[in-house]
Amino acid sequence: MHVIDKRPHIAGNAFDEYDESGILIHRYGPHIFHTASERIFRFLSRFTDWHPYEHRVRSVVENELYPFPINRDTLNRLYGLRLDEADAAAFFERVREHRDAIRNSEDVVLNSVGRDLYEKFFLNYTRKQWGLEPSQLKAGVAARIPTRTNTDDRYFSDTYQAMPLHGYTRMFENMLDHPNIRVETGVDFIDVSDRDRYSHIVYTGPIDAYYGYRFGPLPYRSLRFEHEHLPKVEWFQPVGTVNYPNDHAYTRITEFKHLTGQQHAGTSIVREYPQAEGEPYYPIPRDENEVLFKRYEALALAEHRVTFVGRLAQYRYYNMDQVVGAALAAAKRILERP
Ligand code: UDP
Repeated sequence: MHVIDKRPHIAGNAFDEYDESGILIHRYGPHIFHTASERIFRFLSRFTDWHPYEHRVRSVVENELYPFPINRDTLNRLYGLRLDEADAAAFFERVREHRDAIRNSEDVVLNSVGRDLYEKFFLNYTRKQWGLEPSQLKAGVAARIPTRTNTDDRYFSDTYQAMPLHGYTRMFENMLDHPNIRVETGVDFIDVSDRDRYSHIVYTGPIDAYYGYRFGPLPYRSLRFEHEHLPKVEWFQPVGTVNYPNDHAYTRITEFKHLTGQQHAGTSIVREYPQAEGEPYYPIPRDENEVLFKRYEALALAEHRVTFVGRLAQYRYYNMDQVVGAALAAAKRILERP
């Protein structure tokens, strides 16, 4: 097997490395592993040990930090209340704007938490992250975020939540360390001319690029990452990520030591600035983009010797564990083909 990547390193956007201060950082923004699938967790466990880590996020609203996703503590602190679990459920029932049909991300949020919480926590974050109104995005985008009547302040509720003990890059090195696997970095697939010498190709780049943009470019959302090391600050913020829905040009700040458990006298953080141009990081889930993708997908489905897998090739807002699941399914199909 021949693995190529156009970047000078393996591990894709999950690439992590030690910065100049010696702190393990994620060059392409925070990657936090979580899955409900024992099968996927077991598969990755062949290539790494784990550091248990449950991600926590606070969101800044009017200069105060609140638990996010919205839970009972968020309500109590924001509105100066003392709701118990049943009260919190009744609160959401009172403020929600009931929707018969959930057509988009605005419907999702208004239907569950109502307009005030929508405007404080979701509206401006979504505008900043996507450059679109929540009403222009598929329901699945906002539906990634739960609403809780309990005080669980974890970002994810999956059974398996952990970070690769020695980082993602090391995990992928172990995965690729096999006598039948040859790795070549700094090679763009588009420049590979003798593709016929491969019996099968797995393509993980943008599907529109594969087909020379013949139906026009698929929109992807990009980010600019601003990394910073603070040598004299042991901890910059109380949790792994702080979201800034209404302030600043960045959406959030992540402090890596929270994620990795590393000890260091200083700390390293990253700010994420969403932008339209640049490396594609997110497909943009909306109907018109799905329609365009379907045209490319029809071409892809007719290919016998090429498999398209991943966020960019399948134009799907996959989490890491979902990518692993898609890759395992693709591998099975390839191995079982006649
Ligand atoms: N979101 C929001 N406010 C937040 C966090 C998320 O409105 O404080 C919305 C926003 O539209 C975002 C989506 O929920 O794109 C999914 O958030 P998630 O944290 O899952 O995004 P990712 O980590 O994949 O960038």
